[in-house]
Amino acid sequence: MTQETKPVRVRFAPSPTGYLHVGGARTAIYNYLFAKAVGGTFYLRIEDTDRKRYNEEALKDLLRDLKWLGLEWDEGPFFQSERLEIYGKAAEQLIDKGHAYYCFCTEERLQTLEHGYDRHCRDLPLVEAQKRIESEKFVVRFKAPLNGSTKFNDLIRGEIETPNKDLDDLVILKRDKFPTYHLASVVDDHYMQTSHVLRGDEWISSTPKHVLLYNAFGWETPFFCHLPVILAPGGGKLSKRKGAASVGDFRDLGYLPHALVNYLSLLGWSPGDDREVMNLEEMIGAFSLERIQPKAVSFDEKKLEWMNGMHIRLLSDSLFADELKKLYPAEQDEKVLKVAALLKPRLKFTTELSAMSKYFFERPEKCEDEKAYTKYWTEQSPKHIELVAKELEKIEDFDVKNIELAFAKVCESSEIKLGALAQPARLAVSGVGAGPGLWEILECLGKEECIFRLRRVF
Ligand code: GLU
Repeated sequence: MTQETKPVRVRFAPSPTGYLHVGGARTAIYNYLFAKAVGGTFYLRIEDTDRKRYNEEALKDLLRDLKWLGLEWDEGPFFQSERLEIYGKAAEQLIDKGHAYYCFCTEERLQTLEHGYDRHCRDLPLVEAQKRIESEKFVVRFKAPLNGSTKFNDLIRGEIETPNKDLDDLVILKRDKFPTYHLASVVDDHYMQTSHVLRGDEWISSTPKHVLLYNAFGWETPFFCHLPVILAPGGGKLSKRKGAASVGDFRDLGYLPHALVNYLSLLGWSPGDDREVMNLEEMIGAFSLERIQPKAVSFDEKKLEWMNGMHIRLLSDSLFADELKKLYPAEQDEKVLKVAALLKPRLKFTTELSAMSKYFFERPEKCEDEKAYTKYWTEQSPKHIELVAKELEKIEDFDVKNIELAFAKVCESSEIKLGALAQPARLAVSGVGAGPGLWEILECLGKEECIFRLRRVF
């Protein structure tokens, strides 16, 4: 079957050993987008065969994080730890075909070897080995070809050829009867009918081993596509030490799941036009494997921050109003909605909502923004503010237009620059030096409250 005719089935196959890294999330996203783009199936497989590194908490977090990102899987999760019998049988199948063998070498012996495994047990007669497995500990190793080379065609990198002499007789079944990653991955991708393997490029060196395993079983290989590595801004691996690196970190920082998915989708792929901000539907509509590029990409948190702000603007005002209402349940809906609409364009993170909205509902007791205070507050400020207060008092329709006129009037009659008037007034009413337009803030607070706040001097 060709790539076009094979029903698309892709998987995300994490090992639950730690938090869901953004690199892993990007792999999940590409698999998800690809499946949705072509009407295929996206399934979740938990690769939990490394019992030493298995972590129950990590598994829970992983499922929670994938759901939070909105990457619902169509099938699974399938747990490899529940499929040991299948891997055991597969290993036996390879032994029977002469493609694998029992190895009885002890850990101590292996530690003395300097250049990988020396194939000590490769030629043990099978009958003898079958007797020994009754009483001795063993692993099963793959009998890698000694010469020739193994080729595979990576969908974004082209043909990759590895000399077989570089591949050792890898362990496929461990002493504890659990399969290694290589065996489990190949067996599952075959039986689960995976059509395309999209995974991080750290797995490229495993792929020739997998191809040899497929050949040994007599199975068709899936299509492979190794995704570009994501580097930290200054180069090197993206890690916790260099800042946020896991999906959980970004959630805690106040990022929206769709913003994170959108940003990560662009790390290695582009829609082919100059669109950047996209919702899930748009990403699915534009996604294709051909436009994934193999070059390393760098993670830019500033860009992600920008993207988050853009996605916040796409949310409805009423959604923010609902959030605000939770913080200030006693406030009137109309005012809450007004504040929500004023703040939305200024938010980079949803978590800022509480701090940014506070002065709309509670009088600031002091100017919290010392920098702005030093910069804008002068000895003249109380006098200027009193002039404004007097002018505002005269307004009947306390709206943006009239408020603006009142300020203009004071500026003109007293020859004060607008900035020298407006900034101290802003500090007096809000306690901070930046925020939505001053006229809008004043209108929202209402006449009485504004005048009260203006007349208190910090
Ligand atoms: N369990 C591997 C991981 O943690 C899966 C690699 C693959 O996709 O084959 O990334």
